Amino acid sequence: MLHRAGRIVLTVMWAVAASAGARAQAPLAKPDLGKLGDEAQVWLGDLVRINSVNPPGNEAAVAKYISAIFQKEGISNELIEMAPGRSVVVARLQAGPLPDPANALLLVAHQDTVGIDASKWTADPFAASIRDGYMYGRGSIDDKAMLAANIATMVQLKRTSARLARDVIFLATDDEEQGGAASIKVTIQKYWDKIACAYALNEGGRVMVKDGKVQYVGVQASEKVAYNVTVTATGQSGHGSLPRPDNAVVHLAMAVAKLGTYQVPSQPSTITLRYFEQLAKIEDDDVAKWMRALEQPERMDLAVKHLGEESPMWNSMLRDTIAPTMLQAGVRVNVVPSQAAANLNVRMLPGHSIEELMGQFVTIVNDPQIRFQLAPNSGENAPSSELTSPLYRTIERLAAQEFPGAITVPMLGTGATDSASLRLHKVQAYGLEPFPMIENDSSRVHADDERIPVESFHKGVVFLYHVVSEFASSK
Ligand SMILES: [Zn+2]
Repeated sequence: MLHRAGRIVLTVMWAVAASAGARAQAPLAKPDLGKLGDEAQVWLGDLVRINSVNPPGNEAAVAKYISAIFQKEGISNELIEMAPGRSVVVARLQAGPLPDPANALLLVAHQDTVGIDASKWTADPFAASIRDGYMYGRGSIDDKAMLAANIATMVQLKRTSARLARDVIFLATDDEEQGGAASIKVTIQKYWDKIACAYALNEGGRVMVKDGKVQYVGVQASEKVAYNVTVTATGQSGHGSLPRPDNAVVHLAMAVAKLGTYQVPSQPSTITLRYFEQLAKIEDDDVAKWMRALEQPERMDLAVKHLGEESPMWNSMLRDTIAPTMLQAGVRVNVVPSQAAANLNVRMLPGHSIEELMGQFVTIVNDPQIRFQLAPNSGENAPSSELTSPLYRTIERLAAQEFPGAITVPMLGTGATDSASLRLHKVQAYGLEPFPMIENDSSRVHADDERIPVESFHKGVVFLYHVVSEFASSK
C-alpha cells in the first residue's frame, strides 16, 4: 500500500516537473535557420569567388573576408599570418570568463583549394554560378561549403546568445592541399594555445544519399597515412642499337609492374569492421553478405576480394595500397639511360609501418639494380578518434533526428585531412561533411565541374548547427 502510494506521488511530481519544463521552454523562439541558410549561401558564393588555388593559396584574402563577417557580428577573432599572403582565422565563443580548452570544440575548415583545368569546366570555376539547382565552383564543396557552414554556426550561436557549456572555436586553415609551411601542422606548433581543444569537427565524412533519401551519415574517425617512395633503377648506359640485359628502363618497368599489381594482405581496423557491419544493414543483400562475411575468419579473404572489386574506396579501406604515379627515364630516343625512376604513392592504414612495407618491396622485386627511398613530407600517423565520445554520440543522435531512417557509420578516410594533426594532440576529431549528396556530386571534389546542390548546402548548414549547438550547450 505504502509502496503503491509512493509511486503515485512520484508520478505526480514527475508530471509537474515535466510540464514546468515545457512551460519554461515554450517562450524560446525557434531560430530562423532558413534565413541563416540564405546568408550562408551568399557567404559560400563570395568564398568561391575568391580564388585560393594552392599554390600559391592566397588564403589571406579569404581570411580577411571571414574576419569581416565576425567583426560585424561582434565575434572576437584574430588573423594570424602564416606566410606572406597566407593567414588563418581564429574566432572564439567562450562559455565562461576564461578559455577552457579541456572541453572546447574546434570547428575546422581549410581555405585553400586544388587547381583547375579551365578547358574541362562547363562553368566559370570562380563565379559561383547557379544552374539547375547547383552552385558550381572550385571549392564549392571542398572545403568552402564547410567553411561557410562553420561561419553560419558561429554567427547563429552568437546572435541567439546561446548558453554555452563549452567554448566553440573557429579555425580556417591554410595549405591543407599541399601540407607545406603554412599547414595546420605548423599552426599547431606555433599557436596551439589559441586553438587548444578536446574535440573537433572537420571535413572528411559524408551524408550519403541514395534513391532520393539519406542512407547513412559517415563520420570519419580515422584516416590513412600518405607516403611517397622513389624507386630507382640503375644500369649501364649505352647506344640504343646495342641493348644489354641490365637496361635501367626495363628493370624499373618490371619493378613497377610487380609493386603496382601487388595486393598487400588485408587488415581491416576496428573502425572499418564497424563501418561494414553497420552498412550491411542497408546494402543490397548480395553486397551485404560479403560485408558480414568479413567477420568470419574462413571467409574473410574472399569477402575482401569481392568488396575490393566492388569499390576502389572499399579496397583502400581494407588494406595498405600502392599506386605508381610518376615515371622518369631517358634523354634521347637512341640512348639507353643509366638511371630510371618512379614514384609510388603509398597509403598505409594507421599504425602500420612504412619501413616494414618497404622491406617487403625488396623481397617482392628481388632485383639488385633497384633501390627504394622514402620521400620527405610523409603524412601523420595518428591514433583513431573514439566511437563512444560524447561528440560522436551527439552526431549519432542528431543524424537520426535530422534524417529519419538513416544510420550513422564510422569511417576510415582513405585520403588525408587536417584531423590527423589534431588527433596527434589528443583531440577527438571527426570528419562530418554535413551536406547530403549523391555519389556523383561528392565525387566531384578535386575534379572538373565541382558543384554543390544548393538544397543540400542548406540542409547541411542546419544539420551542423544542430550538432554544434546541442554539443556545446551540454557537458
Ligand atoms: Zn578538403
